[in-house]
Amino acid sequence: MDKNQTAWNEKVSGGIIENLKKRRMEGSYAPNAAQARNEILSMIPQGATVYRCASMTTAGIGLWDRVAELPGVTVIDHYRPGLTPEESMELRRQGMLADVMISSVNAITLDGRLVNLDAVGNRVAAMTFGPRKVILVVGMNKVAPDLDSAMARVKHYAATVNALRTGYDIPCASTGLCCDCASPQRICNVWSIIEGQMALNQGRIHVKLVGENLGY
Ligand code: SF4
Repeated sequence: MDKNQTAWNEKVSGGIIENLKKRRMEGSYAPNAAQARNEILSMIPQGATVYRCASMTTAGIGLWDRVAELPGVTVIDHYRPGLTPEESMELRRQGMLADVMISSVNAITLDGRLVNLDAVGNRVAAMTFGPRKVILVVGMNKVAPDLDSAMARVKHYAATVNALRTGYDIPCASTGLCCDCASPQRICNVWSIIEGQMALNQGRIHVKLVGENLGY
């Protein structure tokens, strides 16, 4: 990343972190993925259960092998190879009671709102309630100026790129463009906008902003 992009990331991330605080969420900035990974690992308590939610970002920074090596930590991973659909769904349910949930968001606004669109809904459910700690790893490429642009980013970019990744039989997996389909394999089913946390959950959500382009 060139020095001007790096400067933008550093300046803009500071404002977002301030706005997250006003919403009773935590935020921090790491200039690169390696530093982010180490800081996230240090946030996971010994012996914790950790729910791995769908995220190309956390996979891309090589987080999960390192999490699995932490003393006494159990990773709940519903994408583990060899699971039946029923077993995978059961692990999604177990993830709701994990100590820590780690994922990413589809977009974050400058004023600190977290915007997501899920296929099944387990990711936004766990982000909203259940796990005692939620750690969200967010590349600065996911910053949007406001809610409208965040939702447009999610629907017309993140969702369609994810559709290409899944290879599902949905129109956007062919065209790269959303046509608001009614397909049984539609991946856009549950919107979530997290505006903040109540005082009793202050700091439950920690957003780790990263000065790199990560995920979609
Ligand atoms: S609504 Fe359908 S066409 Fe649009 S992005 Fe979602 S899955 Fe693709």
